[in-house]
Amino acid sequence: MNRLRLILLMGLCIFIALLSIGYITVGMDDNTSDEPVVTTDAEADKKPVTNPSGNDVAATTASTEPTEETTVEKTTAPKEEITVSDYEYAYAGFNPSVAAVSEENWNLLLVNRNYILPDGFTVKTTPVKGGGQSLDYRVAEHYNDMVTAAETDGISLIPVSGYRSVERQRTNFERKINYYKGLGYSKAEATRLASQIVLMPSTSEHNAGLAMDFGTNGNYTLDENFAKTDAFRWLSENAADYGFILRYPEDAQDITMVTYEPWHWRYVGTKVAKEIKASGVTLEEYLGME
Ligand SMILES: [Zn+2]
Repeated sequence: MNRLRLILLMGLCIFIALLSIGYITVGMDDNTSDEPVVTTDAEADKKPVTNPSGNDVAATTASTEPTEETTVEKTTAPKEEITVSDYEYAYAGFNPSVAAVSEENWNLLLVNRNYILPDGFTVKTTPVKGGGQSLDYRVAEHYNDMVTAAETDGISLIPVSGYRSVERQRTNFERKINYYKGLGYSKAEATRLASQIVLMPSTSEHNAGLAMDFGTNGNYTLDENFAKTDAFRWLSENAADYGFILRYPEDAQDITMVTYEPWHWRYVGTKVAKEIKASGVTLEEYLGME
């Protein structure tokens, strides 16, 4: 019986041991079966997280937009971008040269979409007659003489817009870009559209302090109706005697790249103004830089 008990006890131990192992094994199996579930969940989680979570989409969108713009820059700009590769609006296809600023021929400075004022351009300005506006100090005296002469003839010439800083021009231009971006246009397209309304910074004669936009009694809005005023007629007849020209004549848009602006008068000096008036050419043509 002792032997039988011993065998039973051993059998019980073996049974318990097997049961333990079996239990552990079952436990491990459970864990193992859980693990794949967890792993599957993790993968399942990762997949949804990776794809629809927006991480990839956002990354794709983020990398698509600049890529598109970069592509635009790289495909259209580099060919023409040799002269001013770092021009701030080159991404929109604008590739102007830097205007030649000279102390000697300051009055003949050509500023337009093709020739921009150099970085850091500064001009000494002084307030002019009529209040609220200033011009290049070398222009002011001629301007004041002209306005005084007009007054003597009973003509009111009201300064609406003279010198305007490059920074202010940039603010105006960027505001316009943002307006078009708000309508859904791409940055490059919004910039091109803005440039049709507001001149880009450093491309306006106002940035150089060489031009004045005039109003007159009853017309301050800088529109084509100014051409019908006595003030315009007076300027057309007399401005050259004081060194000013009608800078953006009618039907000269192909050359000046600016629409007809009867209100915008630019100082070039008496001699040149008289020659330009007599010949009827634009400043670009006069300088041979059209
Ligand atoms: Zn103007």
